[in-house]
Amino acid sequence: MTDVKKKILTGDRPTGKLHLGHYVGSLANRVKLQEEYDSYIIIADVQALTTNFEKPENLRRDTFQIAEDYLAAGLDPEVSTIFIQSMIPEIHELTMYYSMFTSVNVLRHNPTVKTEAQQHGFSDMTYGFLGYPVSQAADISVFKANLVPVGDDQIPHIELTRKIVRRFNDLYKPVLVEPEALIGEVPRLLGLDGKTKMSKSLNNAIYLSDSSSEIENKIKEAVTDPARIRKNDPGHPEICTVFGYHQVFNRPELEEIEKACRQGEIGCVQCKKKLAGCINVILEPMRERRVKYENRPDLIQEILLEGSKKAQQVAQETMLEVREAMGINYFGQHK
Ligand code: ATP
Ligand code: MG
Repeated sequence: MTDVKKKILTGDRPTGKLHLGHYVGSLANRVKLQEEYDSYIIIADVQALTTNFEKPENLRRDTFQIAEDYLAAGLDPEVSTIFIQSMIPEIHELTMYYSMFTSVNVLRHNPTVKTEAQQHGFSDMTYGFLGYPVSQAADISVFKANLVPVGDDQIPHIELTRKIVRRFNDLYKPVLVEPEALIGEVPRLLGLDGKTKMSKSLNNAIYLSDSSSEIENKIKEAVTDPARIRKNDPGHPEICTVFGYHQVFNRPELEEIEKACRQGEIGCVQCKKKLAGCINVILEPMRERRVKYENRPDLIQEILLEGSKKAQQVAQETMLEVREAMGINYFGQHK
């Protein structure tokens, strides 16, 4: 019998270490679903170049770092296919075909592209940056993925992918699959600044690789309710970043903490200690798994090479169908 498992495609840009936002937004779902789905996890190095083209020297380090974070988080390389985007040129070929019928205005109005352009201070977007959602549509559809576990900033991109796939299937032949987004338990985790989403480029993150003392220190510095000066002052959890994290990482004690905060019965110091403890409970098993891969670039390289080889075979199969559908396989089945 042939493999009938549905497919997952998702991944991250190698622009730094993975953080708790990645975990609750996407990574936890990948780990949970890796046996049930045929899973492809992309380290999107070409997409990282859309903002980091001036410092490509960090790509290698960050690619290895992210792979280590995946393995620590519980992705099993025997089960999930972890690969590097630039090693699959078929993705870039498909991006080019898609770009023929994707409107520049649609890309300009994409809310995530707009927010990110602002964050990066781009007044004039490059062609590559404006077009990254098209490349992402190719990442997803070249694997015929059914499901894409992501945080909510990715919703406009998955919508665009669906439109592109529908358009391709209508224009040529129905060979591609319309994917669905699977939004994580926490669609958008805020950063330690309490203002924007936790992001590796914004210096407001708790990393999966942070030690327990680093976590305690970061949380100690987090902004709480500014009206609370003394321990007994009544607090306002609804405006407190730390309480926001309790909502995610400490559900069993939530009501108790909320009440104690409002009544000035628990001080911020104690509340922060509790939170650090809860986060460390999640990260401890990752620390244990990480030991095997730390300082073992040889092991990680082997996993990435194997994964990229396997991913490329799948992408090549799809591209044969794509070229055939478009009538550009002039001499029959060429790879
Ligand atoms: P960069 O700042 O370089 O863009 P990033 O932290 O936004 O980095 P990405 O690699 O762009 O990370 O995102 C990878 C995946 O993680 C996406 O599915 C995204 O939705 C999800 N994600 C990233 N940050 C968060 C967050 N704070 N909360 C929930 N999901 C998130
Ligand atoms: Mg991002």
